[in-house]
Amino acid sequence: MRCPRIEVDLRKIRHNTHTIAERLKRPGIRVTAVTKAMCGHPAIARAMLDGGAAGLAEARLSNVKRLRQAGVTCPITLIRTPMLSQVDDVVQSCEASYNTEMAVIAALAAAASRQNTVHGIILMVEMGDQREGIMPHDVGHMGQRVVDMPGVTLKGIGANFACLNGLAPTAAKMRALSALANDVEGRCGPIIGTVSGGNSVNLPWAFGACATGRINDLRIGEAILLGVDPITGDQIGGMYRDAFTLVAEVIETDAKSVHPSISNADHTLARIRLVSANLETTRIILAIGHQDTDAAGLLMPTGNTLIGATSDHLVIGTKDAALCVGSEMRFQMSYGALMRAMAAPDIQINLRNDRTATNVHKVNGPSKHLALT
Ligand SMILES: *Cc1c(COP(=O)(O)O)cnc(C)c1O
Repeated sequence: MRCPRIEVDLRKIRHNTHTIAERLKRPGIRVTAVTKAMCGHPAIARAMLDGGAAGLAEARLSNVKRLRQAGVTCPITLIRTPMLSQVDDVVQSCEASYNTEMAVIAALAAAASRQNTVHGIILMVEMGDQREGIMPHDVGHMGQRVVDMPGVTLKGIGANFACLNGLAPTAAKMRALSALANDVEGRCGPIIGTVSGGNSVNLPWAFGACATGRINDLRIGEAILLGVDPITGDQIGGMYRDAFTLVAEVIETDAKSVHPSISNADHTLARIRLVSANLETTRIILAIGHQDTDAAGLLMPTGNTLIGATSDHLVIGTKDAALCVGSEMRFQMSYGALMRAMAAPDIQINLRNDRTATNVHKVNGPSKHLALT
């Protein structure tokens, strides 16, 4: 099989999505699955929908187009505020978008009117992450302007936590978001359909004993893909952490007697780390590097230590004497490593347990399938 590659177990993606969706049923929160970390890969998105996601959310229009071209017809929301230069395409490909700027909303409204359609607007509120968002005291006024504008409809409000500042939302913050939903409705009239409380970092809050108020949607990426709470890194009960595995190939195993000289090593480039001289440790090189992934975000299998990486090489100290040139090594990835690897042109993506592939086979009958092979 080709290296480097990412093996994606779609059954585990379905399972992880299903586990979260089931646990959020009782508090009345639906899962909007976020596809940006895997560049809108259609089969992975379908696995999320199969697992119980109510819809999809994407940050980049190019990924939305990839989903649409593959025949994904479910509602897709753009979660990064649209670029003014893209409004026509946004209206064409997305049911709704998260917005923070009146100029963009007006342009979306004009584009929707030209296309004889209505585009959904979710106002993103700044609740402390200090990335994007409208200040809470401005939301009612802006909501009113959206309601009065032909071509757009006020679909809801949302907030985002722990993306820029790493702080998990408090129960008080979540109550404030619920109260804001009531305020906006009181001021603007129509019932707000979506109150989107945040991302994977909100799961401990949503699973907890606290009342979830008006929050009826969470946008979940990392927890589905990696089965962990992004802040603590702890596994979420009953979820798989290994839906994605990166496989890379060994291209050199010679034990080097040279030790990296600290004065010569460019730490920013090579990130050389001195590994204590150990007779059992061999230095090996894998054909993968910074251009493919975040080397520091690869989980080293037991008995292996990351020595360093360059653009195309990964240097590892290993106690595994069986590794030779041509051997494969398997790694679990952090979110950052996964995100880069999924976007790397040199990495092949191998799907396992693809139910849609067997469904296609069943629906179209074996003859069509045979004709393809
Ligand atoms: C990336 C992103 C999410 C998903 O975050 P995860 O931590 O992967 O669950 C949700 N909302 C917005 C606005 C995002 O940019």
